[in-house]
Amino acid sequence: MRKRDEFSEWYDEVIQNAEICDKRYPIKGMNVWTPYGWKIMTRMDGFIRAELDRTDHGEVHFPVLVPEGEFAKEAQHIKGFEEGVYWITHAGLNPLDVRLLLRPTSETAMYPMFNLWIRSHADLPLKTYQIVEVYRYETKQTRTFIRVREIHFFESHTCHATYEEAEDQIKENLEIMDSLARTFCVPYLKMKRPDWDKFAGADYTVAVDSLMPTGRAIQNGGIHQYKDNFSRAYDIKYEDESGEHKYVHQTTFGLSERLLGGVIAIHGDDRGVILPPKIAPIQAIIVPIPEKGSQEEILAGARDLNMQLLGCGVRTDVDDRDIRPGAKFYEWERKGVPLRIEFGSNEMKDGTVTLVQRHSMEKETVSQGDLTVTVKKLLESIQNELWERASDELAKGIRTIEDLKDAKAGINRVGWCGEESCGHEIEDVTDMSVLGTLYDGEEFEGDCVVCGKPAKTAAYAARTY
Ligand SMILES: [Zn+2]
Repeated sequence: MRKRDEFSEWYDEVIQNAEICDKRYPIKGMNVWTPYGWKIMTRMDGFIRAELDRTDHGEVHFPVLVPEGEFAKEAQHIKGFEEGVYWITHAGLNPLDVRLLLRPTSETAMYPMFNLWIRSHADLPLKTYQIVEVYRYETKQTRTFIRVREIHFFESHTCHATYEEAEDQIKENLEIMDSLARTFCVPYLKMKRPDWDKFAGADYTVAVDSLMPTGRAIQNGGIHQYKDNFSRAYDIKYEDESGEHKYVHQTTFGLSERLLGGVIAIHGDDRGVILPPKIAPIQAIIVPIPEKGSQEEILAGARDLNMQLLGCGVRTDVDDRDIRPGAKFYEWERKGVPLRIEFGSNEMKDGTVTLVQRHSMEKETVSQGDLTVTVKKLLESIQNELWERASDELAKGIRTIEDLKDAKAGINRVGWCGEESCGHEIEDVTDMSVLGTLYDGEEFEGDCVVCGKPAKTAAYAARTY
């Protein structure tokens, strides 16, 4: 199956062949994580957890159900989510007095509790996060990891005394995101969404936008400044040093399993998935090449290599199944294991091993004495190459255009005066979404692509998932 020509089919097929997820569950958009896929996802979660713990966030775990009354408190927020909410209306045979919903995100579950937890300035900042499932009724066609109804979700929620402190939190969130993007090898643009497309209830949204090989942008996450929009609705106040009661300022940061979809889509090839070494459950697979008469010896040698590598902290395994080596090669290539180590009678005789890198299929022979050092170096260089390769693709995918008629697949950069009406015109003419403007800001030499007035900055437009 060719990635370039039949992306959708290719995407489904490589996920299935790598045994990352089984989408035959009888509810569309609710997929089954299989052991290999769940190992990848929980490794990714582990990196998220480490970053959040490092920055003094406390992990919490809130109930999945939210009473209707709490959900209804922030008007913009309900408007944004009400069409996608699953309701629980009955308990057994009896209708419930108060309808309950499955969280589509957890503001409305957490904030009534934040109201109880926060009393004084000494309780601030409050920095929490959780990694849970959230539920959204998607009406568009579902797609594994990209558009699903049960979403494996990370969300951090913070409360601060002032707007400025909340702004600092946004910067910290972006630093965390930079680090995660490098670990997962999914480069992104920090895109300040236009007002008409910000998160429901937010003051502003910085989207984590990546570019898929189809030329469409994908939002893998969002970082949101809430100001006091939610704290007013949920009455989350603190007493400052002078005894005055003030509303807190809040931020959130959300990521989802879409990141894994991004890894698969961006790095995979016609052979299958390619996993960055940091998130690969198996970083190097050792395949013994048996030969009549010396099977036992070769297998023992392979196990010995495995012990050496495990001892140095490399995640390895020996594939000692009784099937042809060729079949093993294909299987581990489909699963995206970064390195293959072949060990047969030639290697045993010469005191060497043969290494094959999955992403480039480059092959080399190294002496067994250098094995652990070489493998560690290679894993590091593969990780870097995947990041560089994807970063180049993203940079190449952004083109500045002077006429909206020239908009093409990829991300189109245009001059923009900042007026909403011109923004909508860009969307109408190109049949694309305006992703927004760069969070870090940028000067644009030239005029607004729509009205011809001097451009304040550049807007970015693309088709999206
Ligand atoms: Zn304009």
